[in-house]
Amino acid sequence: MNSSAAVNPLESFINSFNIDLSASYPTQDADLIRQLPFIPGLKEILMLRQVHGLEHATVWILSESLGARWVDNHLLGGLSTEQGFYLYGQVNKTDLHRAVAHALQRLKNGESDLAVHPRCGTNLSVELLLTFGLAVGAHLLLPRTPIEQILGLGMAATAAANLAPELGMLAQRYITTGIPFNLEIVDITVKPDSWGRTAHFVRVRWSDRN
Ligand SMILES: [Zn+2]
Repeated sequence: MNSSAAVNPLESFINSFNIDLSASYPTQDADLIRQLPFIPGLKEILMLRQVHGLEHATVWILSESLGARWVDNHLLGGLSTEQGFYLYGQVNKTDLHRAVAHALQRLKNGESDLAVHPRCGTNLSVELLLTFGLAVGAHLLLPRTPIEQILGLGMAATAAANLAPELGMLAQRYITTGIPFNLEIVDITVKPDSWGRTAHFVRVRWSDRN
């Protein structure tokens, strides 16, 4: 769960192509929306990425009250939507408001590691996809005898379990989260989510003033 700035092997592989996928600048998403207005739902997708980054950073900052940086408080969790995010766990509204404001500021000031979280659902999705892909690959490539097939399945599961955490973190950094350059906090209320679980909801809105 180390989310420090250390560059992992996959990231150095990507960097070897001189593609800086993480380079984000304040007007990046607003520019994209202006350049690609014909793509339906683009603004909602970009907003969801930004909310997702803000959700992770808020969980990290609330967890910092445990006394150290990068300590994960497993009693806290979040769920992002295009309007804002649910924050699950015992937290006081004033502390939450302060944490969201800090998260917003610190992400904008360059602490992009705060946008990535080891307990994110992205990691699980990546692991499931990878296990499925490798298992199908092993099934097709290996002889169809029971022993080889079982061994292949075991190897696929082991390889997926080893690769998934780093790939999941990369998928978060480059695909499922963004730096919330365009978000403003509207309010924080207590309301049930779509499964009826009560949580704080941090409502945000899009802003082009960044
Ligand atoms: Zn997440």
